[in-house]
Amino acid sequence: MKVLILGGDGFCGWPTALHLSDLGHDIIIVDNLSRRDIDNELSVESLTPISPIQTRIKAWKEVSGKTLGFENLDLSKDYAELVQLLVKEKPDAVVHFAEQRAAPYSMKSSWHKRYTVDNNISATNNLCAAVVESGLDIHVVHLGTMGVYGYSSVGLPIPEGYLPVKLDVPNKGLVDQDILYPTNPGSIYHMTKSLDQIIFAYYAKNDQMRVTDLHQGIVWGTQTDQTKRDERLINRFDYDGDYGTVLNRFLMQAAVGYPLTVHGTGGQTRAFIHIKDTVRCIELAVTNPPAKGNKVHIMNQVTETHRVRDLAKLVSELTGATIKPMDNPRKEDAENDLIVRNDNFLKLGLNPTKLEAGLLEEVKEIAEKYKHRADLTRIPCESLWVKK
Ligand code: NAD
Repeated sequence: MKVLILGGDGFCGWPTALHLSDLGHDIIIVDNLSRRDIDNELSVESLTPISPIQTRIKAWKEVSGKTLGFENLDLSKDYAELVQLLVKEKPDAVVHFAEQRAAPYSMKSSWHKRYTVDNNISATNNLCAAVVESGLDIHVVHLGTMGVYGYSSVGLPIPEGYLPVKLDVPNKGLVDQDILYPTNPGSIYHMTKSLDQIIFAYYAKNDQMRVTDLHQGIVWGTQTDQTKRDERLINRFDYDGDYGTVLNRFLMQAAVGYPLTVHGTGGQTRAFIHIKDTVRCIELAVTNPPAKGNKVHIMNQVTETHRVRDLAKLVSELTGATIKPMDNPRKEDAENDLIVRNDNFLKLGLNPTKLEAGLLEEVKEIAEKYKHRADLTRIPCESLWVKK
């Protein structure tokens, strides 16, 4: 298949591009490199040394013999170029990772709120409008997040996208209907992901666009079988207070002897997935498109759930790190349960990488190895959800 990877220079997009290329698919990366600009804005770098995109592509050619295409386009602005690219390349599928993805970054200031909304919503709508304008039957696979549901499942397992309800309709009695599971975003970033859902539902209904929306958990881990093959292919590892995801932050903090930063009671339950399973899920989604005319195919891309304080305890037992409770900068419940259905990917053959199996490798091969690159001043999370 020919597949465009939008956001293919990022944490999830780069290993996905390599994984699909390794399987023999024809891959073109589209990215405006804005994530690298944000590193400069925040004066922070990935813990792992990430090579420039052209060096990455050259290294992949050397180790695999395979060619990756690259286009530097801003999806929120370069609309005409996007349409031209689709018409020229005629991809079978487009995987859309190209959004500003950090909740704390989206809450830093009103500029960051507006940037996140403008960037994410325009990118998604431009992609959908461009697919329609191209006249091609392109399957759009989008990376959404479990975070759209606001982490309060009231004990009900979160279904894969749709909630079956019975409506009490006058003169008809009870009528069955599937509705989009209600969103309850907890940050501006999560709000954009909730709006994405409506955009996709509209284009699937109005234009019979084939769309798969993957509600992903927090991704942990760094390397995949492909990114390990040469140091120039290494994936990024964010540990700073804006972009670092909780488990990777704990692993890095343990490696540098920094107390594990547990926000609030640590009673927040979150959904997780290893980066190796992310790339496999995308492969399964790309190769199993929904039929034309169907509603958006929504799958929960999650393999396990954990409470933040339990993760901290696990990392502490493994490494001897101490734990330091901190004020929670987010506006959220102190404690929550989270039960998530993930039957669809298990049925498609996903064999999940469990936390216990991958943690030690991550500590040794990434956090310990690159800890000399860490800037400890960038660890605290300074974005506040509500101004004090
Ligand atoms: P990332 O920031 O590392 O990668 C996103 C990439 O998209 C970057 O390379 C960036 O330069 C590019 N990009 C952003 N806006 C763009 C635009 N307007 N035009 C072109 N390129 C643009 O993020 P990631 O961690 O790889 O996340 C990818 C997707 O997966 C996001 O949509 C995110 O919401 C979703 N997701 C990520 C996680 C996670 O834990 N990392 C969890 C759930 C969902």
